[in-house]
Amino acid sequence: MKVSVISTGSELLRGTTVNTNLAFLGQALTAAGFSIERGAIVPDSGRSMTEALANLVPVSDIIITTGGLGPTSDDITRQVVCEFFGLKLMEDPELRKKLEAHWLCLKRGHAPEALFSQAQVPENAVVLENRNGTAPGLWLNTQKNGCSKIIILLPGPPSELEPMFSEEVMPKLTAIAAERTFTEHFMVAGAAELMIQQQVEAVIGYLPVELAYCASAEGVRVFLTGPDRPLLKTKAAELKKLFGIAVLANDSLSLVEEVSFQLRSRKFTLSTAESCTGGMIAAAITDLAGSSDVFKGSIVAYSNEIKGKILGIPGEILIKHGAVSEECVAAMVDNVCARFDTDAGIAVSGIAGPGGATEDKPVGLVFIGVRVKELAEVRKFNFRGSRETVRNRAVANAFRMLRELLFRQ
Ligand code: ATP
Repeated sequence: MKVSVISTGSELLRGTTVNTNLAFLGQALTAAGFSIERGAIVPDSGRSMTEALANLVPVSDIIITTGGLGPTSDDITRQVVCEFFGLKLMEDPELRKKLEAHWLCLKRGHAPEALFSQAQVPENAVVLENRNGTAPGLWLNTQKNGCSKIIILLPGPPSELEPMFSEEVMPKLTAIAAERTFTEHFMVAGAAELMIQQQVEAVIGYLPVELAYCASAEGVRVFLTGPDRPLLKTKAAELKKLFGIAVLANDSLSLVEEVSFQLRSRKFTLSTAESCTGGMIAAAITDLAGSSDVFKGSIVAYSNEIKGKILGIPGEILIKHGAVSEECVAAMVDNVCARFDTDAGIAVSGIAGPGGATEDKPVGLVFIGVRVKELAEVRKFNFRGSRETVRNRAVANAFRMLRELLFRQ
């Protein structure tokens, strides 16, 4: 089923707000097997919104709008959608009561009438509860030129949209999609998108399978979607066999999840010593619930003083080779494993930029060291990109290296 997203909000076009809602929806919908047809960003203007609907409704089965459901005069999504589909807007007495009760709790006197614009609901719409704000979402089954369309209106604040989408919208969409389409997915670690695409397409050929790819510093996520479930399963299994060990276990789509799983299944513990990544590796691991089974701790050894005093890197290594060197990172990973008494370790030291480069040590030079029991390895990388990109790539490659070493155990 084809989905298009209309993001409303002049602030999105001015660049004062980043359109994280589109990124969130794109990822969630792709993972659930929906194909995202188009995305449009429009200002808070009725004409622009109507134009976007006119362009996108004919090419989509489902339209999701974000923003413009609040009580202020620029919140016009409901009205525009109702006008476009020729629907009446009616007040929902239950919603009015809820808004009144909410206003009463705020103890701000008489409720302004504008507040109750949020109780206006298009005829036959299903109200999607907003547990994190006042503007409810709306789900509409309607028609345009004789074709059935699903229109989903979501609030703009990500703190409201994300839980509403996951809790209220996704189960409904999944139920609808399950009648028609299925998805298989897997992730190939550390691979180039073009190579993966070519190999996948050679296997799928002209079969009725829609393909989607999502490349990141970690690797390439592959999604196969189509109406024939057994065919999808067979082809996904064939592809996973083709990519072999590079495919993450348990259909996981994240390297950190995979590394935690591989450590846990071996009953191994991990510690990290981080310089230029400043704790990002530790943060990624501890983002996962239950990480205390595998993760003991980290030393963020940013300065040479701490590398020496706390991590015990010999002064001669720091003087002779510098903190960004194979020798230093090798010592960092050995020492952190010894100090934390862990089976596995990761160490990173590099020049994330934009400053700090020297003639022989450019921005993007990063050394990553990993250890699993008696096996250890240090690799040198020259990452390109911003400070953020360099640090993200360092994290992804550290997990990839650790995963490879775990498999060599
Ligand atoms: P409210 O009840 O707060 O008025 P709303 O549904 O009317 O909600 P908007 O007014 O469009 O939503 O946006 C409210 C907030 O959400 C603003 O801070 C806005 O910048 C932010 N926001 C809106 N759209 C997006 C988006 N696509 N990505 C990230 N943030 C967004």
